[in-house]
Amino acid sequence: MVGCLAAAGLAVTTRLDGADTVVINTCAFIRPAVEEAENAIREALAWKAAGRVSRVIVAGCLPQRFPLVLPAQFPEVDAFLRLDDFPRIAEIARGEAPGVITRDLPSWLPDHRLPRVISTPPFRAYLKLAEGCSNHCRYCLIPKIRGELRSREPDSILREARRLARRGVREITLIAQDATAYGRDRKDGTGLTGLLEMLDKVPGLKWIRILYAHPRGLTGELIAAMAGAEKVVPYLDVPVQHASDRILKAMGRGMTGKEIRRRLLQLRKRIPGIALRTTLMVGFPGETAQDFRGLLDFIREVEFDHLGAFGYFPEEGTPAARLPGQVPEKLKEERKAELLSLQAEISRSRNESRIGREYEVLIEVFDPDQKITIARTPGQAPEIDGITKIYRDDLLPGSFPRVRIAEALVYDLVGEIIETGGQ
Ligand code: SF4
Repeated sequence: MVGCLAAAGLAVTTRLDGADTVVINTCAFIRPAVEEAENAIREALAWKAAGRVSRVIVAGCLPQRFPLVLPAQFPEVDAFLRLDDFPRIAEIARGEAPGVITRDLPSWLPDHRLPRVISTPPFRAYLKLAEGCSNHCRYCLIPKIRGELRSREPDSILREARRLARRGVREITLIAQDATAYGRDRKDGTGLTGLLEMLDKVPGLKWIRILYAHPRGLTGELIAAMAGAEKVVPYLDVPVQHASDRILKAMGRGMTGKEIRRRLLQLRKRIPGIALRTTLMVGFPGETAQDFRGLLDFIREVEFDHLGAFGYFPEEGTPAARLPGQVPEKLKEERKAELLSLQAEISRSRNESRIGREYEVLIEVFDPDQKITIARTPGQAPEIDGITKIYRDDLLPGSFPRVRIAEALVYDLVGEIIETGGQ
């Protein structure tokens, strides 16, 4: 959207103050996200009522999820922008075209021909592989908001990756609702394995990272491709959600706890030193104390490097919201806290085991308040995982020096430079 606005000659700012038009890009997959979006809309409309901005546009998943209700709820909003309308944002922002709101599922896909402005630092970028999801986990509304899986042409992804690399991007993070499902809809043999082999040859790229790998798609070939690729970092985000067979079945995840364990162990064996991230959900309907204990045992056994935990949310419109055995909120919170406190111990001990080891790191930025340079090892993804702190102020953002880990904190590392690196 920012690329399209900039290409049309509109100035884009992140400050409300001084803007003519406010675009609110929304998330709507659970009630708290909907409430957050609604609050942002109310705030922008108050600015409009006070004459401080002239137009308010609401984009993304909220209009996609509530096409009929939203215009009636917020009649003062000037236009709603669904996924399919993203490339038309400049016309709509100028008031030259209306944002038409329909109940259709989106069919839009990003394309290398679309203009792009990178909102991340210039040396790293996200690269979208696909849109939508056909997994239909029973607690998740995303397939009903973003539509069924549709994968980009491998050539389009490759061209975008090459262009990013020419513009100075060194690390790309591959994203999709489920990255391992990439290509499944195309039925022409396209898949993540082949794509990684192609991306690995893009000149200029140094690190390739994969986020959101559903364990079901972690095939032996994919693991082998990751292990054999030069630029794919030893890191994987595998959202497993649970370890109890009964709960996994009720969630519609298509795997047993044993199968998940087996694939994670295979990853660890084939890619020594790989950092694993996961997301877990506690308090799914029917989760017993025994299921939860089993989940804690699983965490102790696998020892994830990074872990996010969420309390299950009974989202309207999902099959799981109607299941019996809903778990009280208080219990969900207690379980989440227990899980996170166990993970804090695991995270510290895994970080301690890295003391004395050497890593190539990517320099992000100098933080003048803490007087540290923020860097990341290959095992630390941007924005979601811990960081590596370096007590120096002379390191170039986007460069790749080598560090020796000197200290371990619960989630972060402290490194000492042993060799300054190029870009
Ligand atoms: S794989 Fe992820 S996005 Fe797809 S339905 Fe399941 S939870 Fe939702």
